[in-house]
Amino acid sequence: MNKLIEKAKKLHLLSKSEIIEILKDNFLNNELFQAADEVRKEFVGDEIHLRALIEFSNICKQNCFYCGVRAENKNIDRFRLNKEDIIELAENALNNGYKTIVMQSAEDVYFNAERLAEIIKEIKKHDTAITLSIGERTYEEYKILKEAGADRFLLRIETTDKELYKKLHPNMDYENRIRCLKDLKKLGYETGTGCLVGLPGQTLESLAGDILFFKELDADMIGLGPLIPHKDTPLRDYKADSFWLSLKVMAIVRLLMPDINIPATTAMETIQGNGRILALQSGANVVMPNVTEETERKKYEIYPGKTSIDYTELEEKFKAIGRTISQNKGYRKKDNL
Ligand code: SAM
Repeated sequence: MNKLIEKAKKLHLLSKSEIIEILKDNFLNNELFQAADEVRKEFVGDEIHLRALIEFSNICKQNCFYCGVRAENKNIDRFRLNKEDIIELAENALNNGYKTIVMQSAEDVYFNAERLAEIIKEIKKHDTAITLSIGERTYEEYKILKEAGADRFLLRIETTDKELYKKLHPNMDYENRIRCLKDLKKLGYETGTGCLVGLPGQTLESLAGDILFFKELDADMIGLGPLIPHKDTPLRDYKADSFWLSLKVMAIVRLLMPDINIPATTAMETIQGNGRILALQSGANVVMPNVTEETERKKYEIYPGKTSIDYTELEEKFKAIGRTISQNKGYRKKDNL
């Protein structure tokens, strides 16, 4: 086995230059994916955790350069689900066997902490974990949401290259995003972050920096995926060809953070046929099927061609690769290390 991959597999440590070396060398890909698959099996097992994703608003105050729901996009039908609809979607998902509800939205100011807390409390009357993915908030807001019953939070750093971050996120502040992630950890959320792979101007060095940042933060989940350019954004003419690079980044994350949860992201499936299964065989152990109603799902188009799947179809696909659907809530278990 390649020396660096062997080291990462054994010690779960790599330096920045070692990560860059692996990212550069495409002859190592199969070895890398296999090593990540073995570490995944050893530390988190063969179970796949399903998280039911509800996208409840595409009304956004931000203008991220890559995102189809950015405020300046006028070619989009905006929607906002009401409280009852969100609760109903969550209850349906729980009746269908899901153990975690992920509430995701654009940065919609209507959904202040009080309104979200009411919804969370209602859903938490059932036996479920709740993950939020609603963007940047204050410490006080995160606290209200945690006290209402939210268990986890996803907030990708997107890139740790500060200059690139600044270019892609007008009127946003890198330091504030870091503050948010630290607040979430402090408040006891299982904290997820991650990055986009294939951003214009992004280097292998900056991706290596992203990976080391995840480890330093001791994130509980890492969701990452390829950039898929959207026609109504400033990145419309950019090429989307970073599937394999994102798979490599994901596999290295698994080697360095063996016990965390890693989703096979929808963007991976969208950009490459069978991408989800490839990801599950290269370190991933989570899938987040979208349970939002069809009409709203179409409107939540952060990138084109977003795919969807149903529970039974998934079960069959997982069985074919020797994996089962977990029957528990799938918290990170730190005791294996
Ligand atoms: N607003 C929340 C936030 O900022 O965390 C959550 C929703 S946001 C739309 C979810 C994720 O979609 C972002 O973290 C980003 O990485 C991803 N995303 C947005 N546009 C994308 C694109 N064109 N291709 C791939 N992923 C994209």
